[in-house]
Amino acid sequence: MSSLSGQKPVFRFAPSPNGRLHLGHALSAILNHDMAKVVGRFLLRIEDIDLTRCTPELEHGIYDDLTWLGLTWEQPVRRQSEHFDEYRAALEKLIGMGLVYPAFMSRSEIKAFVHTYEAGGKKWPRDPDGAPLYPPLDKRRPAEEVATLLSSNATHAWRLDMKKAMSRLVAPLDWEESGSGEKVRIKADPAAWGDVILSRSDAPSSYHLSVVLDDALQGVTHLVRGMDLFHATSVHRLLQHVLELPAPEYYHHRLVLDENNKKLSKSEGSTSLQALRDHGSTPSDIRRLLSL
Ligand code: GLU
Repeated sequence: MSSLSGQKPVFRFAPSPNGRLHLGHALSAILNHDMAKVVGRFLLRIEDIDLTRCTPELEHGIYDDLTWLGLTWEQPVRRQSEHFDEYRAALEKLIGMGLVYPAFMSRSEIKAFVHTYEAGGKKWPRDPDGAPLYPPLDKRRPAEEVATLLSSNATHAWRLDMKKAMSRLVAPLDWEESGSGEKVRIKADPAAWGDVILSRSDAPSSYHLSVVLDDALQGVTHLVRGMDLFHATSVHRLLQHVLELPAPEYYHHRLVLDENNKKLSKSEGSTSLQALRDHGSTPSDIRRLLSL
């Protein structure tokens, strides 16, 4: 396996310290680590832009769990909370390109909009995660009104103008995917997400923006992550295109499901690595549980 540039392949595991790691994270971390061990480099990145939910204790929990699993990674670890200026600079660039706009609708206003729309019997479109697409109202505001709202510090996020961003494409977007065991090209469909959020009112960046910037900055060539992020890759490919960043290869792996066939969640602690360890599991048991 070699990267496009002929350099060593670079893999990364990028957890958010907003809960303890569970078996699904272990699968991601081990796959990345083991693939990198053969021919590449393995990075750990802490995705802690959500300052309200991420804590230093949970970050230390990540280091403890991964060390217990027997994994090692390059130092220093990149912590996203130390790079808000870089994400802001990219956002400014997108503002300068006219590809993002300030979005003033609160969650409850979006909900009310959808409710009113659907009361008429029609269905408002949802994104691949099931959330309603952002209504187009802010894009219709007169420029003076937007300027007044901004100068009065009205709470707002910044959203990608999907239509404008898509209009910059010269050819359909796709990506190289090898999660099924063979390499295939997947057609990207960013429009399915509507005007995604790139900077929140309560956090200076968003997952989509910071993940794309960091993967490029860290020279990540192979993205190995769960199937739950498969559709988000469409948005990432579009951001890579407009920001002129390289496209890595993708490998979306199976999800670890609970006994009710639901994706494991950080809020339910029973399959946390910490709980499994406390109940006597060994790192080899974890690999066996994951059929690795
Ligand atoms: N930080 C994300 C999470 O914990 C993963 C990001 C990624 O692998 O692209 O779900």
